[in-house]
Amino acid sequence: MSAPIAAYEGILGSSVVTQLRRLGGKLRGIRVVHVNSTREGGGVAEILDWMTFLMRDLGLDASWEVIHGTQRFFEITKAIHNGLQGKSVTLSKKDWRIYQDVNEQNAERLRASLEAADIVVIHDPQPACLLKLCPNRKGKWIWRGHIDFSRPFGPVWKMIRSYVEKYDASIFSMSEFAQPLPHPQFLIPPSIDPLSEKNRDIDPAELETVRAEYRLDPERPLLVQVSRFDRFKDPVGVIRAYRMVRKVAPVQLVLAGGGATDDPEGKAVVEEVMEEADRDPDIHVLLLPPDAHKTINALQRLADIVLQKSTREGFGLTVTEGMWKGKPVIGGDVGGIRLQVVNHHTGFLVNTPEGAAHRIRYFLHHRNRIKEMGEVAREFVRENFLLTRHLRDYLTLFLTIRSGRNGRILYV
Ligand code: UDP
Repeated sequence: MSAPIAAYEGILGSSVVTQLRRLGGKLRGIRVVHVNSTREGGGVAEILDWMTFLMRDLGLDASWEVIHGTQRFFEITKAIHNGLQGKSVTLSKKDWRIYQDVNEQNAERLRASLEAADIVVIHDPQPACLLKLCPNRKGKWIWRGHIDFSRPFGPVWKMIRSYVEKYDASIFSMSEFAQPLPHPQFLIPPSIDPLSEKNRDIDPAELETVRAEYRLDPERPLLVQVSRFDRFKDPVGVIRAYRMVRKVAPVQLVLAGGGATDDPEGKAVVEEVMEEADRDPDIHVLLLPPDAHKTINALQRLADIVLQKSTREGFGLTVTEGMWKGKPVIGGDVGGIRLQVVNHHTGFLVNTPEGAAHRIRYFLHHRNRIKEMGEVAREFVRENFLLTRHLRDYLTLFLTIRSGRNGRILYV
C-alpha cells in the first residue's frame, strides 16, 4: 500500500511535493498505461506499484497492466533478458514466433486501452512488440529498458531493436546503456519509496523478532544480499567471498530471495546456491514469499554490510534499499551499481569474490567506517534515488514528449 504524495513532505520537504503537484496539474486527466510482465518479484514491479498510485494521486489517469504468458514464453523472455545483458544465447525462429504470438494474445486483451491512451510506457523486452500490434494508437509510446544494456548480445538486441526503434522515445537507467536508436533517449535512474513496508523505519523490537526468527547471532557480524536467485546476481560468488572472510572472522551470511513470475531460472540457481553453501549453519539461504517486505527491510537493517555482487545490473534497487538504511554496500563494479556505489564513499565496487572478501575484511577491521560510509550512503540516496525525483523525471518527460520537442540523449 503506497502513501499519498502529501506524506512525503515530512521526509523531503514541501517544495518537492509542490513541484510535483505543479507538474501533475499540467498533465491532469491524461491517460497513462504502464505495461510489464509481472505484478510481483523484481524491481520493476516494486516501482510500478507506487508509481501508478502516485501518478493517480497527482491527477493523471494512470493504470498498470501485466502481460500473461506461458512457461515457454517466460523461458524465451528470460533468454532474451540474458542476451540483452550480454550472454550469448540461442533463440530459434520458432522461439521468436512464440514471443510474438503471446504478445499478440495480450494485444487482443489490452488493445482498446493501449490505443486510447495518451502515453503508454512499455517496460522491458517481454511486451516490447505490443506497439506493432496496436496500429491505431493515438498517444505517445515510450519503451523503458531496466536492465544492463552495456554490452548486449548482437543477435538478440537486433531483434528487440526492430521493435524498440518504432517507439517515440526510450528510457535507460544510465548513459552507458544508451543505444543507437532513431528517437530521443532519456536517462532516468530508478528509485525507492522511503515510506513503503520495505523501507520505512522499523521498531527495534520488530528487528529482534526477525533476528530470532532466522536464528541470527547478535554477537557476530552479518552480511546480507537480497536478490532474486539469478546468476547475474552472483550468489555463488557471495558465498565464496564469505568463505574467505570466515577463515579469519566469525561472520554470518544471509542470502535472501524469492522468485518472480517472469523468471523461470530461479529454481536451478537455488540448487547451485545450496550446493555451494554445503549446509554451513552460518549461511542462511532464505526463500521468501513475494510479500516479505518487512522481513527484507529488517534483514537489511540487521546487516552490518549489504552486498550486491552482481556481474550485470541495470540498477540494483537492493543497493539503494541498503544504503537508505545507512549501510555501506559492496557492489559489483557493473552497470547501474556504478551510479549508486561511489567507490570508497558509499561503499566499494568489486570485481571478484576475492575483491569482495578484501572489502568485507576492511570493514570488519575499521568498524567506524561502516557507520561513516553508511551515513554518506543514506544522504546520497536522499539526494538522488528517492521516488519523488523519479516521479518528477517521468512527469517532465511526459510534458516534453507531448510537446513534440526533439532531442537525442537527454538527461531529464
Ligand atoms: N526483492 C524482494 N524479495 C526477494 C528478492 C528481491 O522483495 O526475494 C525485492 C528487492 O528488495 C528489490 C527488488 O525486489 O526491491 C529487486 O530489485 P533489483 O533492482 O535489486 O533487482 P531485479 O530483481 O529487478 O533485477
